[in-house]
Order: sequence, then structure tokens, then C-alpha cells
Amino acid sequence: MRVSQMFMPTLREVPAEAEIPSHQLMLRAGLMRKLASGIYSFLPLGYRTFRKIEQIIREEMNRAGAQELIMSALLPAEAYQASGRWEVFGPEMFRLKDRHSRDFCLGPTHEEIFTEIVRNEIRSYRALPLTLYQIQTKYRDERRPRFGVMRSREFVMKDAYSFDRDEAGLDISYRKMYEAYCRTFDRCGLNYMVVEADSGAMGGSGSQEFMVKSSVGESVIAHCEACGYTANEEKAECVPEAYCPEGNNCGSELPLEKVATPDVKTIEELVGFFNCSSKEFAKTLIYKADDRVVAVMVRGDRDVNETKLQNYLGCVELEMADEETVERATGAIVGFAGPIGLNAELNIELIVDPEVTLMKNFIVGANETGYHYKNVNYERDFKASVIKDMRNIVEGDKCPKCGGSIKLTRGIEVGHIFKLGTKYSKALNCVYLDEQGKEVPMVMGCYGIGVNRTMAAIIEQNYDENGIIWPMTVAPYHVIIVPVNTTDSVQMETAEKMYNDLCSAGIEVLIDDRDERPGVKFKDADLIGIPIRITVGRKAGEGIVEYKLRKYKDIKELKIDEAVNEAIGEVKSALKNQP
Ligand code: ATP
Ligand code: MG
Repeated sequence: MRVSQMFMPTLREVPAEAEIPSHQLMLRAGLMRKLASGIYSFLPLGYRTFRKIEQIIREEMNRAGAQELIMSALLPAEAYQASGRWEVFGPEMFRLKDRHSRDFCLGPTHEEIFTEIVRNEIRSYRALPLTLYQIQTKYRDERRPRFGVMRSREFVMKDAYSFDRDEAGLDISYRKMYEAYCRTFDRCGLNYMVVEADSGAMGGSGSQEFMVKSSVGESVIAHCEACGYTANEEKAECVPEAYCPEGNNCGSELPLEKVATPDVKTIEELVGFFNCSSKEFAKTLIYKADDRVVAVMVRGDRDVNETKLQNYLGCVELEMADEETVERATGAIVGFAGPIGLNAELNIELIVDPEVTLMKNFIVGANETGYHYKNVNYERDFKASVIKDMRNIVEGDKCPKCGGSIKLTRGIEVGHIFKLGTKYSKALNCVYLDEQGKEVPMVMGCYGIGVNRTMAAIIEQNYDENGIIWPMTVAPYHVIIVPVNTTDSVQMETAEKMYNDLCSAGIEVLIDDRDERPGVKFKDADLIGIPIRITVGRKAGEGIVEYKLRKYKDIKELKIDEAVNEAIGEVKSALKNQP
């Protein structure tokens, strides 16, 4: 391809709206453009890489025995109503009506639709196991679309669904997908971890996420170096820590005392007022869960994990209660909530983190403006509706498996594999007849990879101050040939000959035949991240060109044929993993 003819609108400036490197670089390198919040168009260079990622996924899915098909993105409501997810998706689902007022959605994920087609077509145990997949556009009206295609409202997902006779079959199908995912992300050049993920809300017996290590990742991963335990923040079980401050009588319970604390509301203010550590307080947070009001208690230095809370409550919408609701629940203005004397009429469920039950003589809000209680003790002074791990894990926490020390890192979730069990097959009556002719619900798994997010994640792990450094496997082109002076006929002839030789060898080549200063061409070549650059300059007359890999600084002078052969060798060895 000739750069002079390419639609490749690169930008010198960093676009103000882009906060993270991949987003900035995808705009600057002319890979994509924004259409609306969370909605993007891919331009030619970007679309080439996008399709290469799709193709790697496709090859690995096929290798694992999954079969490709394609479904519509426009889906009738009925199947989602039957599974209950018409409600569960809440405002994240794009909904619309047709001219007859029938409800439709733009599919956020297709479990129901695959379950229906298999239910309608498959009767016998002989047709199982079966794994189907598609690479298809999904729609989610995300609360906070951000970071470009990392979290967008329209994106392409590879979604696969497995159907088995029993749990043992599911284990095998799941394992095959696990291995296909490892091969896929290896081929994409990613450094990733596989973490235990929560499967609570979707029901099911196990789930793992593929996380690309990155400081811009939105997921927090808890990892224990001692035993290898790895889980995401939502799943990571917190081991309660018993804390006994010096001078606090941790053995015996002191009498409950109400203390006037005018204008002291935040934990920081309380720490100052009582002159003690935030570990000696328990905070009570009031939430609205759909139309219920609930209270959650964690130690003063901890944060509530809202996913754990939402999974436990099984609600669609969860948010911190507004001022008015807090006042109704506690009888006090915001800042004085506590477990003792919550409004009984509201039937508030009090969810207590286990750590709170280990505390002695601690401080809580008194549900009265301007007052706190001190010397509070669990059980004597209040009781939980339920005691359940509700906090975020932190660095240095004990590992729930071995007691070692937990470390936290950030990751980008690029893929998710999930043992669904019979949740959807039961809801939608997806059954088969076993050898005895008895109807049995199929045992399902589902497996997703975000193609756009994977592309952004590859950039997050492969860039420098000059631009993207594509791994060969997903680079839009393998080689860029840069003639320094396009009016020099020797240079141009040499460049054209190399271009033809490389193209005939099956290498994907760009030739920058633009009448631009060399500096401009080098900048663009670096920005768009082509793995191999061959510069044809003054020494072309002597049959010598410059050979440079994007990922290294050094430049070699090679004879023309040597450069061609070296490039072919480099590309072939990088792509040798192909089936
Ligand atoms: P997240 O927690 O990041 O919202 P999710 O748990 O909702 O992700 P899944 O429903 O498991 O994601 O979807 C499978 C894959 O689809 C994810 O692993 C991710 O790669 C991709 N994905 C999900 N939501 C988005 C989005 N808004 N934009 C781009 N990719 C997405
Ligand atoms: Mg999501």
C-alpha cells in the first residue's frame, strides 16, 4: 500500500479528551475517530489490526472445536424477559420498539438467544457437546463510557456458548476454552493473568477473567506470591483482622456512652476529635438497593465493595442513599449513621462485615445529629441481619488460602469464561433427551472476549514516547519502506523493487512515497507502530539501505537483498504460531 494514497489522518497533538495512552495513540495514529460518547468508527489502519485480532480469536476458537455463526444485534425482548434479564440489565440495555410497539433491545450479550436456538434444534444427547460462537457487535449503555474503546457503548465481542450433558462435560468444554484463550492472548503478545472472578450475580459454579496487567486497568487484582492465589477485587475474600489499639481495653466490654460530637462527621474529623485511629470506628453506610434501604457496616479504615454488596442483595440498581433517605433512615443529618436505633419502620437490613464483630469498645454514629456512641460492642449493643464480607481487599491483607501477604495490581479485563450451569437452560427450557429418554437441562458455559478492548490493551503494553509498537501478529502492516527523497530516482527504484519483492513473499508492506520531509515520515512510521522500517537513502546507489525494528533503537546497514531476507525471516518467525 502506498502511504500517499492511504486514508491515514495522523495527529501531532495529543487530543484533550483522551486520558490514557491507548486512547491517545488510537486517535493520533488515525486508527479511529469518535462519533458520540462511547461510539467509535475504525479507520483503515485501525480496522486492519482489529480484523487481525478477530482472526486470531477465530482461529483459536475453531482449533478448540467451536463453530462460528452470526446472530442479529437487534433482539426481541421475550427471551430476556423469560430469563429475568430484561429487568436485570436495567438502564445498561438499549431498548427500542418496532412499529407494532413490540419490545426489542440491542443485544448486550447473547446467552438467551443461543439457548433458544439450541433448545429449538437439539433434542438428543447424541448432538452434545456443542460449542457455538460469534464475533458480533454488542451494545451497552455504560454508566461511564471512557478510555476510548476500552469501555465503549458499542463494541465487538467474541461470545461463545457451550452446551453439555452434565457438569463433567462442562468441565471439559470450559478447559478447552481456557486453553484457546491462553493461545489467543499469547498470540496477541499480551502479558496477562488469569484470575478467579465472581460468579454470584449470574449464577453458576465458576468463573475466571483474563486480565492484562496495566496501570490504567479498571480492575484491581489481589495476588498472593506465596501460594499463587489470584482473584479480582470483587471475588477476593477478605480475612478479618483483629485490631486492638494500645490503651483500649480489648478484653472487657466498657459501658456504652453517648458523646456529643457537634460538627464532627467524617472519619477524618472523628479521628481528630477522639484522637484515635480510624480502625477504632465502624462506619455505617446507607444504600438504596432498588426500592429497599439497607445499611452496611465496615471498619472505619475500610471501603465497602459495592459489587459484593450488589451480588449479595441481588438488586438491579445500587447507589448511596441521598440525604433525604439517610435522614429518614437515621433520624439525623448525613454523618451520624450507626447501627443502634435505625428507623424500624423501614425494615432496614443491617449487613455487617465480619471484622466489625471482632472489634471491642468502638465508636459509631448515634443516629442523632451531633452525637456518637463510644464503647460499642457487637451483639451486646446491636445485631446484624447478616454477617458477610463486604469490604475491599487491601495490600498486605492475609491471603484467604495460605495466610501469606496479598499484593494488589491493576488489570484490564479482556476476556471472561464462565460456568453457567443450568441457569439459562432451566429458565428457557433448553433440555435434551438422555439415553433413557428422560428430559435433562443442558449444562452451559459462556465465554467472552472484547475485541476492541483487547486492541487497546495491546497498545497499553506496547508503546513508547513516539507511538505504538505493534507486535507483528496484529500490526496493520509488517514493514514500512521509507524512501528519504522521492525525487531521487535511484532511491525510488530501490524502494519500489524492495516493495515488490516483499509483497511477492506475502509480507504486508507500506511504502511511504509521500513528498514529505524524512522527519515527518519517520515520525508517522513510529506513531503507527509498524514493526520493521527500511529506510532507502543516499547509500541506495551503493546498494545499501537502513534496517530498523520499531521496538529497538539500533539501526543496521544492510545490502538490499539482505534487508529483504531479514524482513521476511523476522515476519515469518513471528507468525509461526499460526495454525
Ligand atoms: P466490565 O466489568 O469491564 O464491565 P463485563 O464483566 O461487563 O466487563 P462481560 O459481560 O464479561 O464484561 O463481557 C465480556 C468481555 O467483553 C469483557 O471481558 C470485555 O473484554 C468486553 N467488554 C465488556 N464491556 C465492554 C465495554 N463497555 N467496552 C468494550 N469492551 C467491553
Ligand atoms: Mg460491564
